[in-house]
Amino acid sequence: MRFPATGALVLLFAATSASAQVTLVTNAPPRVDAIPNDAWLCRQVARDLDEGTLLGHAILARYDLAPAHDLIDRIQFRRGDRHLGEAIAAFAVEGTGGVIYVSDSTDGGTLLHEATHAMMLRLTPDEAVQEITRVMAADSAGDIDADIVDLARRSFTLSFTASADPELWGLVPMVLTSAAFSDNSTAGTLARLVHATDSAAVQLQGNVSKGWGRATIADAYDDAAAAHWRYAGVPRPAWWTWRDERTFRLIGEAAAYDRAKRCVAGS
Ligand SMILES: [Zn+2]
Repeated sequence: MRFPATGALVLLFAATSASAQVTLVTNAPPRVDAIPNDAWLCRQVARDLDEGTLLGHAILARYDLAPAHDLIDRIQFRRGDRHLGEAIAAFAVEGTGGVIYVSDSTDGGTLLHEATHAMMLRLTPDEAVQEITRVMAADSAGDIDADIVDLARRSFTLSFTASADPELWGLVPMVLTSAAFSDNSTAGTLARLVHATDSAAVQLQGNVSKGWGRATIADAYDDAAAAHWRYAGVPRPAWWTWRDERTFRLIGEAAAYDRAKRCVAGS
């Protein structure tokens, strides 16, 4: 069942204020009981920044299970505009916080996708490695839905391309797409992308400059790794290379699409 967005958000307001008053009004239901299930949240559609912020906060409150439970304070919601390119929403690290950029119309599943990025980049190094191991193993075992793998491949290719020299933006997606499909090994798609980008990232010029000469895409991932661990509030492990960052971003797409799909389906 799909609720009209306006009615749904009025209910959301009511749920939030019921929670705020819970210490004063003893018979007010706690928020978790006022929202029947997660599928309900993921199927809502926010039609502007205010609604997107409200829905995003509800999703962060529901899904941020980390001990500090501080994602709501760390994450801002902003209109995407030029930040989005071809995407409908995006998460970006900014200093020790993060920003979820939204379109004019953003559904809850999409917000959960971006919130998953916001959460995963807060994992400890050990947890991040466990996630990489888990998702890569699931991919090679064929346990991830084909549509999820394909969406992850596209999102990753877009961000990999965005970290290249703009003169290469026409070329890079072709290189990665043909690598993902022409490799006749039995490796999973994610493993093929890791393999293809291992060489492409160190050969192709990136969109960062190191002062003299041009840096590579690998350097762009190295910068992204520094920003990632600053946001995580954890010193960057000495062993965490640009390759780990690249792989973590790739499996993060699969995890985010998988989570959003399950939420929308109510499973
Ligand atoms: Zn994503």
